[in-house]
Amino acid sequence: MKPVYFFGGGKADGSASDKNLLGGKGANLAEMTTLGIPVPPGFTISTEVCRHYMEHDNYPDNLERQVRDVLNQVENIMGQTFGDAENPLLVSVRSGARQSMPGMMETVLNVGLTSKTIPGLIEKSNDERFVYDAYRRLITMYADVVMEKAAVIELSEGKGIREKLDKILEKMKKQNGATNDAELSAKNLKELCDIFKSTIKDTLKNEFPDDSNTQLWGSITAVFKSWNGKRAVSYRNIENIPHDWGTAVNIQAMVFGNMGDGCATGVAFTRNPATGENNFYGEWLPNAQGEDVVAGLRTPNPLNQMSRSHESGSLPSLEEMMPDIYVKLDAIQNQLEYHYKDMQDIEFTIQNERLWMLQTRVGKRNGTAAIRMAVEMTEEGLIDEQTTLMRVKPEQLDEIMHPMLDMEVEKQSKVLAIGLPAGPGGGSGQIVFTADDAESWHKDGKRVILVRSETSPEDVHGMYASEAILTSRGGMTSHAALVARGWGKCCVVGCSDLSISTQEKSLSVNGTTLNEGDWLTVNGSSGKVYPGAIPLKDVNLNKNPYFKKLMEMTDHQRKLGVRTNADSPADAIKAREFGAEGIGLCRTEHMFFDPKRISAMREMIVAEDENERRKAIMKLLPHQKKDFYGILKAMAPHPVTIRLLDPPLHEFLPQEPDQMEQLAKDLDISANELKMRIENLHEQNPMLGHRGCRLGISYPEITEMQARAIFEATVQLVLENMSPLPEVMVPLVGSVAEFIHQRKIIDSEALKVKDESGTQFKYLVGTMIELPRACATADQIAKEAQFFSFGTNDLTQTVFGFSRDDIGGFLPDYLEEKILPHDPFQSIDQNGVGTLVKMGVEKGRDVNPKLKIGICGEHGGDPESIRFFHDSGLNYVSCSPFRVPIARLAAAQAQLQN
Ligand code: PEP
Ligand code: MG
Repeated sequence: MKPVYFFGGGKADGSASDKNLLGGKGANLAEMTTLGIPVPPGFTISTEVCRHYMEHDNYPDNLERQVRDVLNQVENIMGQTFGDAENPLLVSVRSGARQSMPGMMETVLNVGLTSKTIPGLIEKSNDERFVYDAYRRLITMYADVVMEKAAVIELSEGKGIREKLDKILEKMKKQNGATNDAELSAKNLKELCDIFKSTIKDTLKNEFPDDSNTQLWGSITAVFKSWNGKRAVSYRNIENIPHDWGTAVNIQAMVFGNMGDGCATGVAFTRNPATGENNFYGEWLPNAQGEDVVAGLRTPNPLNQMSRSHESGSLPSLEEMMPDIYVKLDAIQNQLEYHYKDMQDIEFTIQNERLWMLQTRVGKRNGTAAIRMAVEMTEEGLIDEQTTLMRVKPEQLDEIMHPMLDMEVEKQSKVLAIGLPAGPGGGSGQIVFTADDAESWHKDGKRVILVRSETSPEDVHGMYASEAILTSRGGMTSHAALVARGWGKCCVVGCSDLSISTQEKSLSVNGTTLNEGDWLTVNGSSGKVYPGAIPLKDVNLNKNPYFKKLMEMTDHQRKLGVRTNADSPADAIKAREFGAEGIGLCRTEHMFFDPKRISAMREMIVAEDENERRKAIMKLLPHQKKDFYGILKAMAPHPVTIRLLDPPLHEFLPQEPDQMEQLAKDLDISANELKMRIENLHEQNPMLGHRGCRLGISYPEITEMQARAIFEATVQLVLENMSPLPEVMVPLVGSVAEFIHQRKIIDSEALKVKDESGTQFKYLVGTMIELPRACATADQIAKEAQFFSFGTNDLTQTVFGFSRDDIGGFLPDYLEEKILPHDPFQSIDQNGVGTLVKMGVEKGRDVNPKLKIGICGEHGGDPESIRFFHDSGLNYVSCSPFRVPIARLAAAQAQLQN
């Protein structure tokens, strides 16, 4: 193994392609050097050395000699010598992993300052103050990083060496009437360094080393060790970064932005990372070191006119103050962006009017900026369409489709509790605890957040009126989550720390109690809940030409179709605007909660016999026909998959005394009789009970009515010269016999409607595949069904044996213990549930190679899952309207990744 890679003077051992070996920072320093960009010379100790060190607790044999050799090369270029009394070289020692882990690992600057080298540097720089300022920074960093953290000395919270030294610095400023560090004199700083050193000895029982070489190796080892520091380990856990990658260490000649006038330091982006505009954008500070810009102690100056912000007001720009340097910097940023073909985040230092580049890397950006940059770079000819599509993360589309919380304010807000991120965007409003209150407060012009233990279909009106929905129970496919996602409404579910008292209209969480009317803010994209109001940033997609272009590009590439889950004409129209190519799931049960219909529905459910049931059903027929007419029309000529009634019937039963009374009256029976009938319908396990096609088998007249409503609506549209395409779908089929039973009824209704109307029309009859047995017998079912649609919500429920509605109670433990890598109701469990999906596809296509297969569970809007469905050979995914663009992009990316 080659442990050490040199860069400097226009030559480098490594290049940008060596990220795995040199880390991102080291690889890019090498690349910039070869490009002829001014980079202070230095070298990178590779990640292989880090791995060796972790395994053997020791360095490879020849490392010290190699480091000495390359340090010589650096010394030659700089005309300085490390540890030399007259003309000392100082170096920085920084971490640099393969994937950026911002702030998670350590850095030591100004390494090499000792009682031997200090006088020489003072002589050379002619600036005693600067030297002691650099020295006190070195002492602080070294004590913290090397002597405390790397030595695993655990001081109690707030008692760490850095805190102690910072306090001493503050005291020194106070004593000398200084408002900032820059006002401390050389004498002050020198005294400060002495106090620092004795404090370190008292606290850490060890001397700050007065030898350049000891400092160098102490720093190198500390940076390697910081790979396994607490912060770094938990960051890798969150970001799924493998723990065995290791970090590289970059040792580089120091250049100083704090050596007086003519010195400066700054950070910049080659395009605006917040808006995506193609403007060079950044901040700088005269006479400062890099950490001062990041620490935010001084308000940075704008780089140029375009970077001027409210805060930087009239501070002079670099363009104004150092025009020659600015021109050079601008040329370099152009060169870097052109070379890397992506927006770069750069760091620079100016020492005595000489410009040095310290870092370049691909810059982080928000969703709006990501889309604009990617599209504009294609138009500029910088990247091709494929690259453009891979540049934007599907979640970044989510960001621009919903109002989001103001990030700056959110960052400074205290998190009250965390639940599951069930509906995107942000919501802020006053707390209410019932759906009726939500509706009436909303009517009074108030913004409300509906807080419930869980929601039921009876809450829908209040959910609709709310800015956001927050529940303490339920998972990603709970009622609240499904409904909210369908509307693109902000929602957090399963926030189990909340205890809610609907009676007292209050909630308590982690020691805080909030009452009705108190303000609350919810981030449905992260699951975080905040007390008080956080402002929102609005969006308008129609005004975003870049979004439109990007969506067009997705359609050039993708093979997988994208449909939507919608059960109202309004949702269907919204989904068409987003590019849906049909409806993959229309859940008919959502149509019955309208107050005008629910009573007929209830009559149907508690009917004593077929006769009574038919009477109630016939009241529902005209409503259903109207629904189907609207949806088929909104989607024509695209297909609409309409699923027959699916949910357990008790969901529709009356709960309140007045509802019971009304129903008894409608049915002309006594309250007692009604109570008995309802009790008879009670089930221990409704999710596994009398639902799905079992309903249509027990009560064929329900299937008859629904099929008739679909076909009569179809006829009406055909007569209006439209081309409706209904696909009737039978839910929860576990055996082919169930399907055959239902299909017979559907086909026979179709025949009757054709005969009665004298009108021909096209339709299909297919089934949901959402039970393990359906996957296992898919070959038999495929002989009878014209299409399959995987219901991965129920399939996940039945494969795992996890209740969809109750997973919120134990999922956090499973995630914490890493028993599950993620919520399987959100992203498909490829090994388990996915194997059954593949089995269903194979068996189905064995019998019918042309069988059309889709998926309409919640996973249809999840990018990871979409890739899996693409690879499994499905024809389309179906998801809520607001996820259609995300699915289009994810489908294109899945195709490109092949
Ligand atoms: C499913 O089970 O995946 C599905 C789409 O149906 P539902 O969520 O309505 O049960
Ligand atoms: Mg289902």
